[in-house]
Amino acid sequence: MRKYLNQNSRELQEIKCNMCGRTMRIENGYLKEDCFTAEHVFGYFSAKDGTRHRFDLCESCYDKMVAGFAIPAEVGEETELV
Ligand SMILES: [Zn+2]
Repeated sequence: MRKYLNQNSRELQEIKCNMCGRTMRIENGYLKEDCFTAEHVFGYFSAKDGTRHRFDLCESCYDKMVAGFAIPAEVGEETELV
């Protein structure tokens, strides 16, 4: 769950993990820890047709979520980190 300074700003004010509710560390508008963000718009063949779902997870909660997968998440190496 993200809050910005104002509607027209993209400067982060606050991010909370949707699973545990912990506020993630932000300094000068920049997130100082990693955050897993998921966003999806459900389509015609869903009961959630046309709704956008979005959430943020801290790294610990991401680990808990993927630990419940029957098939592990695909993990690859990135050579350039942003
Ligand atoms: Zn969390």
